[in-house]
Amino acid sequence: MSSAVLVLSGPSGAGKSTIINAAADSIGDFYFSVSTTTRAPREGEVEGRDYHFVTKEQFEEGIENGDFLEYATVHGNYYGTSLLPVKEALEQGKLVIFDIDVQGHRLVREALGSKVVSAFITPPTLEELEKRLKGRESDSDDVIAKRVANAKIEIEALDEYDFLIINDSIKEAKNAFISIANAARYRMSREENREFTKKWLSQ
Ligand code: ADP
Ligand code: 5GP
Repeated sequence: MSSAVLVLSGPSGAGKSTIINAAADSIGDFYFSVSTTTRAPREGEVEGRDYHFVTKEQFEEGIENGDFLEYATVHGNYYGTSLLPVKEALEQGKLVIFDIDVQGHRLVREALGSKVVSAFITPPTLEELEKRLKGRESDSDDVIAKRVANAKIEIEALDEYDFLIINDSIKEAKNAFISIANAARYRMSREENREFTKKWLSQ
């Protein structure tokens, strides 16, 4: 099967990390695109596994060098996807999973086009989102308020996504994510369709 691109977006606290981790053993060989950010690590986050944590100056140097497939400012910090590891994983025919915001989704669609499958994940209500952000105990009240305000804007982009996952029960959200990851593996780009058709007709 050919390589595949799956973008997962949703408000901070929606359960993106939880669902990707829960599904990891059931979706075959994949590469999780580790983003680079200028935000400070949360307790328990590991450099190179959760994010590459850099300074603002280092990030801006990366922008100048053209290192990023896409980048955006989210909640006042830079977040970006490094181009090189994604390119390598795609060349190896892997499923590449991105945990990026709605701005990143738009840019990845521009760059990778019809190959992209995307899912938006959210808790059932805004109230539940706030409860989970508080329960995570990783952000101050100020930061949580910023994330809740941003969530109200992000949900307006729902129409731009292929799938919606309502993360009420972790088990059901995990199963939905596994189905979507499998669908992403079968998604063909326009170029792949053309190549396949040419070959199919010539044999
Ligand atoms: P994100 O990666 O989208 O920012 P997390 O995966 O860190 O979100 O989840 C936010 C918080 O909500 C975590 O404390 C996590 O344990 C909790 N959580 C995730 N999914 C559920 C769920 N279905 N029910 C209750 N709590 C959940
Ligand atoms: P958090 O700080 O909660 O880890 O992430 C905040 C937001 O930034 C989330 O919506 C997450 O999806 C998004 N994000 C993480 N990495 C990237 C990235 O590389 N690019 C973009 N555009 N957004 C990202």
